[in-house]
Amino acid sequence: MATSHSHPSVDPCHRRSLSPIATPDRLLLGPGPSNADPTVLRALSRTPIGHLDPLYVELMAEVQELLRYAWQTDNRLTLPMSGTGSSAMEATLANTIEPGDRVLVAVKGYFGNRLVDMAGRYRADVRVVEKPWGEAFAFEDIEAALIEHKPAILAMVHAETSTGICQPMDGIGDLCRKHNCLLLLDTVTSLGGVPVFLDDWKVDLAYSCSQKGLSCPPGLGPFTMGPRAEEKLAARKDKVPNWYLDVSLLNQYWGSDRVYHHTAPVNMNFGMREALRLLAEEGLEQAWARHRTNAEALWAGLESQGLVMHAPEHLRLPTLTTVRIPEGVDGKAFTQHLLNEHGIEVGGGLGTLAGKIWRIGLMGYNSKPDNVNRLLNLFETELPRFRLGAVAAA
Ligand code: PLP
Repeated sequence: MATSHSHPSVDPCHRRSLSPIATPDRLLLGPGPSNADPTVLRALSRTPIGHLDPLYVELMAEVQELLRYAWQTDNRLTLPMSGTGSSAMEATLANTIEPGDRVLVAVKGYFGNRLVDMAGRYRADVRVVEKPWGEAFAFEDIEAALIEHKPAILAMVHAETSTGICQPMDGIGDLCRKHNCLLLLDTVTSLGGVPVFLDDWKVDLAYSCSQKGLSCPPGLGPFTMGPRAEEKLAARKDKVPNWYLDVSLLNQYWGSDRVYHHTAPVNMNFGMREALRLLAEEGLEQAWARHRTNAEALWAGLESQGLVMHAPEHLRLPTLTTVRIPEGVDGKAFTQHLLNEHGIEVGGGLGTLAGKIWRIGLMGYNSKPDNVNRLLNLFETELPRFRLGAVAAA
């Protein structure tokens, strides 16, 4: 007899019988993610606690304080967005742009273009100043563009992951104050690995990710907003057009009120807390010096094998090295070989640099001499097999 709770019979379509997950131990030397520190992985696997548990609330404050240290900022509104770096990127724009606001984006690579795309979606009047993919902006370029466009916000990428270029920041913050505009900085590939001094540089808005210099898996997007940007947020005529990323709502949870907003990814924040604790234990200056020493060893080793770096040395990022694929080398076949035969991931080029460069990351936990030596040995012994004609000749 059918009951009032009858339901249709279960359709077995889509039902799969799988073995328990088994992923390989890759060495991630590409543009990200990087390998997480084992201490961070252990923190991630702890039993979750409630997102309003007093112990979790304590941990939230620790994460915020350590993020301030990592960024060298006193910004009150500093918190990890529940999402990857792009969520924090979008939050910087969603909270500050009002329709018609002029946003100037300094584009010198792939991620500058993402800022252009996002700012347009929030109906900004987007203006662009460009540099070739492999150069940085000079102070004078920025000054001329601010005079020409008179933007409310200048957005730029500090560490351009698509080109391996580190943007010098000297004087840019002062310029922005002089021209009455906010300075928004992408620090996704710099935080934890390259000197960043947000308050000294007078940066008003910044974002980053968990999976590179912080040695945590992908999943959180550190976000920070200074007092000038807070003023712009407070003066908005309409609500922030993105509920999930609205910092005024999020701050009711991350600030003293602890009002529920969304269920925080508690385990990701366990991991973030440990990642930031380890960074503070090492010390920022020591971490930056480690990244530079290991990157310099990589550059010297690759150059001694006749390879050419894409970025000029004075602008080169220690976290992400771009190497030109030599004429006659099948760059993609080589990286596939590294992955399939040696379990090592190295990246290829993005956008206009696709097929022209390799991208090698030495970030966070992965910035160590053993990894440099292992990769240099493989370049020396295996790369010759990928020169066009080498297979036929063999
Ligand atoms: N900005 C830069 C410079 C990046 O390198 C990335 C990702 O690699 C992002 C933004 C976006 O971050 P995510 O991929 O974590 O969303």
